[in-house]
Amino acid sequence: MKVLVLNSGSSSIKYQLFRSEDWTAIASGMVARIGETEGEMRLEWLDADGVMQRDQNDLAVPSHQEGIDFIVETLQSHGVLGDVSELSAIGHRVVHGGPHFKHPVIVDADVLAELHEVIPLAPLHNPGHLAGIEVSRKHFPSVPSVVVFDTAFHQTMPPTAYRYAIPEYLYTEHRIRRYGFHGTSHHYVAKRAAELLDKPLEQCNLITMHLGNGASASAIRNGRCVDTSMGLTPLEGLMMGTRCGDMDPAVPIYLSKHLGLNAEAIDHMLNRQSGLLGICGVNDMREVVRLAERGNERAELALGMMTHRLKKYIGAYYAELGAVDAIVFTGGIGENSAEVRAGACAGLEALGIELDAAANAGRADEAGLCISTAESRVQLWVIPTNEELEIAQQTLATVERKRR
Ligand code: ADP
Repeated sequence: MKVLVLNSGSSSIKYQLFRSEDWTAIASGMVARIGETEGEMRLEWLDADGVMQRDQNDLAVPSHQEGIDFIVETLQSHGVLGDVSELSAIGHRVVHGGPHFKHPVIVDADVLAELHEVIPLAPLHNPGHLAGIEVSRKHFPSVPSVVVFDTAFHQTMPPTAYRYAIPEYLYTEHRIRRYGFHGTSHHYVAKRAAELLDKPLEQCNLITMHLGNGASASAIRNGRCVDTSMGLTPLEGLMMGTRCGDMDPAVPIYLSKHLGLNAEAIDHMLNRQSGLLGICGVNDMREVVRLAERGNERAELALGMMTHRLKKYIGAYYAELGAVDAIVFTGGIGENSAEVRAGACAGLEALGIELDAAANAGRADEAGLCISTAESRVQLWVIPTNEELEIAQQTLATVERKRR
């Protein structure tokens, strides 16, 4: 049987198709520029001989409806998907689940109503997710749809970690609190770390660092998230490609009062013009490292600021957890940038964190890469994330639980 994972945004739908017997990804791709005059469709799939094939075209995709039609037709015409009855379930990634969703759920009218209800908390993401969910439910009425939330893994945080020190009614009436994001990735690498540590997840204390264009850290005690760096939105916490992360909350007030910027302009500045880009003019970490190695002072500063902030979170979460089995690096930067990992761990030997420079220069494959010395009390691991696989597995587990 097969599980289809859809990540439906406002103008694109990314997808992966898994064979659930061995969790091989047998196809993946995207339709992009939905609603524009020229669209884009990409598919990679494993043919009958196990060889990866590619197809691409730039046909217009007027709406999510055509996008889903397109995905199904392409999968069927290349023989990757036969009849729709081959699908056991469809898993949908949803960025924001609001305060109520603690686990993946099968989509029904109540779930859809609740997702509409939390749109104000994720105005850029949830409308696109809803469009994809509604269209795919029409297209596959007989296949259960499951929503898997980026926020769900963080729902185990205690109020001391998730509340903001602002008037209570803002929480009770407006749901303003820390939610956290990238939960699927933090959960996936935490489970993989437990396997690599050869310890049940329920006995593992971990600090997980998801460092991609967006970046977040989580503190995990006995397998459950107790704190995370992103907040009401994915702007808080670590310094990111184009997002500022933590700063004095008075800065937007200052920008409004003294520079006359309105809410949209401030939102754009802090989400899209800040972070690495704001400091050194580029947001691709490869380019930042290249410039820093050539002595570009702004790039050196950007890299230094990023690793300084990572170190602060490691220290804070270490103190929160009391004891740490492992620190895990994942995401495009966490998996690939030896410089960032080295900067984040430098000088932490007194905490029992000792990086092995030679191991850190290696490449991590799916098996994971240990980058700590044999003496290090805290193990350091690079573990490639796989959010789609995690969504597929949680989707099937949710459907099977319901059947039992
Ligand atoms: P997203 O959050 O969009 O999923 P990714 O997890 O793919 O992002 O991470 C993107 C980031 O990973 C970019 O900043 C990119 O520069 C960085 N990255 C990718 N490969 C490397 C590399 N070899 N060295 C350093 N950074 C890298």
